[in-house]
Amino acid sequence: MVFQLPDLKFDYNALEPYMDAKTVEIHHDKHHAGYTKKLNAALEKYPDFYKMSIEEILSDLGKIPEDARTGVIKNGGGYYHHNLWWDQFKSGPVNEPKGVLADAIIKKFGSFSDFQEKLNAASTGVFGSGWGWLVKDSGGNLAVISTPNQDSPISDGLVPLLAVDVWEHAYYLKYQNRRADFVEQVWNIIDWDVVGNRFK
Ligand code: MN
Repeated sequence: MVFQLPDLKFDYNALEPYMDAKTVEIHHDKHHAGYTKKLNAALEKYPDFYKMSIEEILSDLGKIPEDARTGVIKNGGGYYHHNLWWDQFKSGPVNEPKGVLADAIIKKFGSFSDFQEKLNAASTGVFGSGWGWLVKDSGGNLAVISTPNQDSPISDGLVPLLAVDVWEHAYYLKYQNRRADFVEQVWNIIDWDVVGNRFK
């Protein structure tokens, strides 16, 4: 069984006005679908990897034969990150971090707004294409980081909790060059129940 593109759990227009329907459609049906197809193609010679989860594969890239590795880093990362991306959104009303995740955010960053500022800065500051992240390390500590291209935090032993896609395809139709505006609007559609479950 090869890797499958997950269906969106909402309609294309569900994240309006923060994320426009056309962007959601193209981003999921073309970009995410493309990563899925190319990940499967990258592993065609090594079908045993189809039995593993994408998390297992990206956690131990040394296991991937060298001639497939670059394709898996790019397209496996793209596949996995977009799975996280779509799953963490919902249409209003906005909720907030709760329980142990809320406590950990306050402990690490001082306040929710200080955390938001940090993640906004990390995401906006990515040079070229990449992602901003809230991650958890093996000791359960939170951190805000960014990664270039589709390099995955999970390949560095970190658990991705919240993903901010700053590839131009994520925002250009609606926000053009205004990446910072897009990054600020993403807060309006995050489902903190999903992020909280990732933290646990
Ligand atoms: Mn993307």
